[in-house]
Amino acid sequence: MKDLPKVKGELLENYELASLTRFKTGGVAEIYFSPRDVDDLTSFLKKAPKDMPIHVIGFGSNILIRDGVLNGIVIRLQNDNFSKIEKIDDITLKCGAFASSIAVSKFCAENGIAGMEFLFGIPGTIGGAILSNAGCFDREIKDIIVSFEAVDKLNGKRKIFTVDECGFAYRKSNISSRWIFTSVIIKGNTGKKEEILEKMDKIKEKKDSSQPTYTKTSGSTFKNPSKEHPAWKLIKESGCQGMKLGGAIVSPVHANFIVNEDNATSADIEDLAEQVRLKVYEKFGIMLEYEIKIIGSRKLENP
Ligand SMILES: Cc1cc2nc3c(=O)[nH]c(=O)nc-3n(C[C@H](O)[C@H](O)[C@H](O)COP(=O)(O)OP(=O)(O)OC[C@H]3O[C@@H](n4cnc5c(N)ncnc54)[C@H](O)[C@@H]3O)c2cc1C
Repeated sequence: MKDLPKVKGELLENYELASLTRFKTGGVAEIYFSPRDVDDLTSFLKKAPKDMPIHVIGFGSNILIRDGVLNGIVIRLQNDNFSKIEKIDDITLKCGAFASSIAVSKFCAENGIAGMEFLFGIPGTIGGAILSNAGCFDREIKDIIVSFEAVDKLNGKRKIFTVDECGFAYRKSNISSRWIFTSVIIKGNTGKKEEILEKMDKIKEKKDSSQPTYTKTSGSTFKNPSKEHPAWKLIKESGCQGMKLGGAIVSPVHANFIVNEDNATSADIEDLAEQVRLKVYEKFGIMLEYEIKIIGSRKLENP
């Protein structure tokens, strides 16, 4: 193992990543680190070698990790200390960044906090929702964030961000990828448990009937170029729905979802996505922009 600092959490070499992603594909991380708490994370980052890239993953529900060796360190905040959901007052919560968005929405329903129902439709961590301003049915994470805490990958320093400084817009923000989010404060409104649960049920029903929710997928592959031109429509009208490459398929249920149908590799998924982009471009002159984050190397061996 490289000369890495001592930690209290888990620090492992040659860690298989496929099981940590919703696509169930991807290579091996050179180093995997799951810190015990924020102090463990900051002290590791202060001393970690500066020449090793650092990647963060949550539930892997919006990410495609290529099949080769992922150089550097993969950090995953998989510890109860990063999954806590606590009430600050009647309508405000502090959530660890690794808390599931679905668990947060359920907690809010139990506690009569409205406005968080949309989180029930997003199967990732609340930390993983921040960078891309994840959203569902006209609500986005920016609508509920008060502030969040992050740690600098480069030196372990901690910083509190307020929502106004993040440049949140449709599936994007101006937050640098050097930050690892560790906790977030969110605020809703007072509501009635039954009404909140009803809204959550409707969201689930709507999503389950229109998306391949329970398959090996990372959600929408591409961002919608505009309201008039949703990605699914462009893909469908370019004749790509149902297209296959290796074990990957453009979902027959929702054209903007690529599914690992039959032992696909990440290369199958990425190459299929590229074919879709090309066909859409040829037909409409629109180059689709990825919503999923693609990281890693296609090479199967370390040089
Ligand atoms: C069936 C299905 C439906 C979906 N529906 C929606 C939807 O309606 N709306 C929507 O917006 N998304 C949707 N998604 C995508 C995904 O669930 C969200 O983007 C989610 O917020 C990603 O969270 P994650 O923990 O899985 O992040 P990951 O996929 O693990 O990571 C995503 C990005 O966030 C970064 N990241 C993760 N955790 C941290 C952290 N602690 N600090 C800093 N950076 C971090 C990663 O580096 C990466 O760049 C869907 C996915 C699936 C599979």
